[in-house]
Amino acid sequence: MSETAPRIVIVGDSIAGCTAARELRALNHDGPITMIGGDPDGCYARPPLSKRVLAEGLETSDAWDLSDLDVTVVNARATGVDPDRELVVLADGDPVPYDALVVATGADARRLATPGQRGETVVRTLADARALRTRLETATSAIVVGAGFLGMEIASACAARGIPVTVVDVDAPLMRILGPFLSEAITRRAASTSVDIRRAKEPVELIGDPVGGVRIDGSELTADLVVTCAGEVPATGWLETSGIGDSRGVAVDDLCATSVTGVYAAGDVTYVRTADDRRPRTPFWSAAIAQGKVAAASALRVTPRCEPYDDYFWTEVLGVSIKVVGPLPLSGAPTVLDGSVEDGAALLSWTHDDGRRTVVAYGMKKAVGALRRLAAAE
Ligand SMILES: Cc1cc2nc3c(=O)[nH]c(=O)nc-3n(C[C@H](O)[C@H](O)[C@H](O)COP(=O)(O)OP(=O)(O)OC[C@H]3O[C@@H](n4cnc5c(N)ncnc54)[C@H](O)[C@@H]3O)c2cc1C
Repeated sequence: MSETAPRIVIVGDSIAGCTAARELRALNHDGPITMIGGDPDGCYARPPLSKRVLAEGLETSDAWDLSDLDVTVVNARATGVDPDRELVVLADGDPVPYDALVVATGADARRLATPGQRGETVVRTLADARALRTRLETATSAIVVGAGFLGMEIASACAARGIPVTVVDVDAPLMRILGPFLSEAITRRAASTSVDIRRAKEPVELIGDPVGGVRIDGSELTADLVVTCAGEVPATGWLETSGIGDSRGVAVDDLCATSVTGVYAAGDVTYVRTADDRRPRTPFWSAAIAQGKVAAASALRVTPRCEPYDDYFWTEVLGVSIKVVGPLPLSGAPTVLDGSVEDGAALLSWTHDDGRRTVVAYGMKKAVGALRRLAAAE
């Protein structure tokens, strides 16, 4: 190992952090890499947590083997950064010095419980998914708060077990990202299952201690199991005094550089700094991979091998796999390229005002590469 190569420290050992580590070695970095991760279960993929881990009862999620990368793995929580002295501070253990730092601490589940209210259920970690699966084994009724992709995946897991489940949200299912056409298709599909969709006029509140229901527009609804799927909050608490993060996350430019010299960031913890501050966060798997690669290149001060974004996203709702390539959110009706949504298998295309295209495979088997080609076609 070279003694002159920069010491690179990555905080966060999930997909953004692990991708950064792999890309550093692919770019011939032969200096030290230290990866700091605070989850006792180590590094693993999150998407299966709300799908296969719940449905198929897997004990683990897909885990990554980094043994070929010669990375020093530290299982500890980082509690701070001193950018002047270029040190990462740990909850226990000696401070870790760096020449370049990649922040990849992702996000935590957004919680709705009031201070002191116990028993809120969320799904962000493997431990959360295991605990939820145990609850699903005995629950006879469920409420899911939030009809985004995660909420609909959890509702699907309940429905697959025959558990009557009510999904409550101020918006229709998946409306915020997939727009009215697909939202209505999913709502129709839900009507033929044990999933009851309730639209609230006001944001719902959790009731009970421990949590046992929700208050929805003044009336109360209770169930054996209540799961909050209300989005995520970038994990920036540990950066508080460093000037690297703020309440929206860690702002990055197109090279994944933060406002602090020598510090880069990737994945769910980030938002992209733009002149009008309008670019939405993209807390999705493929975006974390793209940013992990770019952050690694920038930490080495070389040109990245890819763009810092990737607009592929997928989910599985009520037995339908939905793969999306292209800008989100969607609005209006699509052109149907093949099949039909009513029959449960369709290839759909939306053209946005700026001419870009979003292609969706709804319940239809399509390779992601083929969707990318369709979305990019003139
Ligand atoms: C249940 C679930 C299902 C999903 N399904 C899909 C899907 O179908 N499709 C899709 O595109 N996306 C999906 N996503 C989103 C996707 O998983 C995320 O976009 C992706 O995991 C982001 O990766 P990341 O590395 O940025 O952050 P994270 O995966 O959040 O990982 C951050 C890591 O940093 C660690 N960490 C945090 N703070 C500290 C600290 N202070 N010190 C040390 N370590 C720390 C955490 O323990 C964690 O391991 C899903 C997410 C969830 C929760």
